[in-house]
Amino acid sequence: MTEQELLDFDRAHIWHPYTSATRALRCYPAARAEGVYIELMNGQRLIDGMSSWWCAIHGYNHPVINAAMSAQIGRMSHVMFGGLTHLPAVELAQLLLEIAPEGLEHVFFSDSGSVAVEVAMKMALQYWHSRSRSEKHAFVTIRRGYHGDTWHAMSVSDPDTGMHSIFSSNLPKQYFMPEPRPGFHEDYDDAEASRVEYFLRQNHGKIAAFILEPIVQGAGGMRFYHPQYLKRLRSLCTEYDILFIADEIATGFGRTGKLFACEHAGVSPDIMCVGKALTGGYITLAATMCTRNVAHAISDGTPGVFMHGPTFMANPLACATALASTRLLLQENWMEKVLRIERTLKERLLPLQGHASVAEVRVLGAIGVVEMKEPVNLELIQGRFVDEGVWLRPFGKLVYTMPPYIVSEDELDKLCKGITNVILREQL
Ligand code: PMP
Repeated sequence: MTEQELLDFDRAHIWHPYTSATRALRCYPAARAEGVYIELMNGQRLIDGMSSWWCAIHGYNHPVINAAMSAQIGRMSHVMFGGLTHLPAVELAQLLLEIAPEGLEHVFFSDSGSVAVEVAMKMALQYWHSRSRSEKHAFVTIRRGYHGDTWHAMSVSDPDTGMHSIFSSNLPKQYFMPEPRPGFHEDYDDAEASRVEYFLRQNHGKIAAFILEPIVQGAGGMRFYHPQYLKRLRSLCTEYDILFIADEIATGFGRTGKLFACEHAGVSPDIMCVGKALTGGYITLAATMCTRNVAHAISDGTPGVFMHGPTFMANPLACATALASTRLLLQENWMEKVLRIERTLKERLLPLQGHASVAEVRVLGAIGVVEMKEPVNLELIQGRFVDEGVWLRPFGKLVYTMPPYIVSEDELDKLCKGITNVILREQL
């Protein structure tokens, strides 16, 4: 198939994320990927500034992960998890529980981040059902959050800025608190947490859980908020007998400078979701972890089982991949790499602050965000980035990067130059 034939068929028949089937934006055909580079069919190599949406922390085609996958394929790619178990699932669960915040003792494997969130929310509902408190069935969250594209995950994603507003009349009604204003590096001010306290004092009798993305709000606005807010929320949830769900799907595995973002505030959730970088971006897998208290309450109640069981639950190939990726992360001094990326992103991107079209530049861990004053023209700006030899995918007013941790200083320099050149040259 020629490149043009491929593109023509794709444009005519295949949906891409958040796009039109009839007025599709331009797509670029990827042929292979290696290290930090994505190579297009025409041979052009692009430095990946997105880690394929937070996932590819070790870059692409990594020999260690490749070897682990090949070995696992030779043994078994998949068996059902009902009535069977296997080494990849057990070893992965052991490792996850070892590195996760204290108190998480049980793991439920599923296929994707959104499903992990659905599972977390079902766990919370079943927990209260088992404790004969079914009136505690609503969820609270903060504005500007994003938790996925399935129904309950949508219901706790920002109703206005999120991508789900058209479905709002079909979604369960949840409670939204104002997003915390103080940024990660700013002075803390308790205004938003006090509003949460006021709300919980009045309404805790109907609230099952508080769900949020710890420290970094991703697809809802790439915001970094103050750890003290997270700490306050954790203690309010304890005080008012509300489960605390941390969605670490984007933040997990070192991205923010801590292995899990909850560590910035020294808090442990009752339920925690991981996905994305869990497999180093090789294959889809997610996990929902919970405390003994949650697991035992569900199991001691009626019906006494947790009512969820996906076909590909704990897929051995995905578990073996996640095990290899997570071991690699822990062996390879990830923190030094992430903090080096943070330093360079600050050095190279913060000078854009003050440019006429730039509202704010912020950096945390291996995440750099340039928030523009106006929404960018995605198709145009994407093309300019490709011309610069970098792969970035802005949305709304946000031009942002979260490169693989293996990115070299030269590659990072090129990435930042690409961002700077396009913003300055295009007079965005
Ligand atoms: N939660 C968060 C914080 C996310 O960033 C995402 C994905 N962007 C999800 C949940 C949903 O994950 P998935 O796309 O794997 O369903």
